[in-house]
Amino acid sequence: MLSESNGPLNASNKAPSTEGRDPAYFSYYAMLQHQQNMLQDTVRTSTYRSAILLNGPVCFQDKLVLDVGAGSGILSYFAVQAGARKVFAVEASNMAEKMQKVVDAANSSDAEALGKNAFLKDKIEVVQAKIEQPNLPIPQVDTIISEPIGVLLIHERMLESYLYARDHYLKPGGTLFPSTGSIFLAPFTDAALWSETMSKARFWEQPSFYGVDLTSLYTDAKDEMFGMPVVGGFDPRTLIAPANPGGFIIDFYTIKLEELQDFTVPFIWQASYTGIVHGIAGWFDLQFSPPATIPNGNPVTMTTNPSAERTHWQQVRFLLKEPLAVNAGQTIQGWMRCVVNEMRSYTIEAEILLINDGTGQLSDPLSSPSPILHLDFNRRRNKWRLHEQTYNYNYYPQTGNDNIFRPEYNCLYEPEQPLDVTVVVENNNLLDDTTNNQFVL
Ligand code: SAH
Repeated sequence: MLSESNGPLNASNKAPSTEGRDPAYFSYYAMLQHQQNMLQDTVRTSTYRSAILLNGPVCFQDKLVLDVGAGSGILSYFAVQAGARKVFAVEASNMAEKMQKVVDAANSSDAEALGKNAFLKDKIEVVQAKIEQPNLPIPQVDTIISEPIGVLLIHERMLESYLYARDHYLKPGGTLFPSTGSIFLAPFTDAALWSETMSKARFWEQPSFYGVDLTSLYTDAKDEMFGMPVVGGFDPRTLIAPANPGGFIIDFYTIKLEELQDFTVPFIWQASYTGIVHGIAGWFDLQFSPPATIPNGNPVTMTTNPSAERTHWQQVRFLLKEPLAVNAGQTIQGWMRCVVNEMRSYTIEAEILLINDGTGQLSDPLSSPSPILHLDFNRRRNKWRLHEQTYNYNYYPQTGNDNIFRPEYNCLYEPEQPLDVTVVVENNNLLDDTTNNQFVL
């Protein structure tokens, strides 16, 4: 594991267990206020509803459905609205008892008279258990629904439970909603955020804090402050280059559980402006598509990109300890390696390399970092712990006529001539094109 050994994971290493975190994790989800926070994310809830109802005739009507991590039960109720024959709602936390109250009220003989969701009558079985528990009273189902998504798609490691459910309970050819997730990464500039973070670290530079010299901890403080991903919104116009179209696709129908435990997202960007890269911004999209074998589906997409309506996931930014200056038109390539940790999250390492000026070559994400790399003037590398999040809510999207963007106010300088766009993107594959010593994404 990256965080502990500083070295590569090899295939025989077992992924660190999340069980130690379960009590805290499930007591969080046992609270109505946290379920409410998700329900009130209208982008999230209405996208799931559209995906389920628009695909009702092909994926839900008269079908058996499994809701993995049902929470308050909202996705199960949508599945019934879409015509499901029976929904098995598996929820590990005590929220299952709350959901059972809704179901009991619907099942009672006077539900119709009282207006208590009579449409749910006898349609839902609540199972309070972790989906990974053996011998659950669940049959093979036609469709699995779940909202196993955390910050940057992967935080919380619930996707692993989703894949477990797929491997144990989905009939061959069944539907998974969501069906794919895509991670997007792009370089951003934000001098204020960088300086604020640096000033927190500089506290530890004091040689006499009440007479005590703190300077031995300065390097650790810098590692810690810059190792915390910053969750929150930001002006999309502070992105120095666009993210690679399509993003890094994780196909929930086909990805193996092991592949989620250590994966590397390659990227290649062309700077739209001259400016300072302070770090890497990330977000994700979700797609809901029935498998190709089911005709007449209606694919639905949801995005959490910084230009779109905000969601409770917001976006996340990974600061570099040392910013990187780029010129408009230059190419930056790099990778972000994500390795699971025992905090229900990921330890993330990334490298970016400015390739137009330098002769350097991107290092291998699977090998231990060589200290010499940090001396390269055109290369930056840092490590973050996705669970040690800090929040930044300084950005409020503007509306109306005052919303004229002057890039130079953000120290972004536009090229006089339009840029020649040369970046080539081919799915998720980072191909080593040895003929010109560069990578093609
Ligand atoms: N489906 C609900 C809740 C989503 S939050 C909604 O869309 O509003 C994720 C839920 O999954 C939480 O309530 C959490 O307690 C539950 N959960 C997470 N991991 C689980 C697992 N392994 N087995 C069962 N439930 C799980």
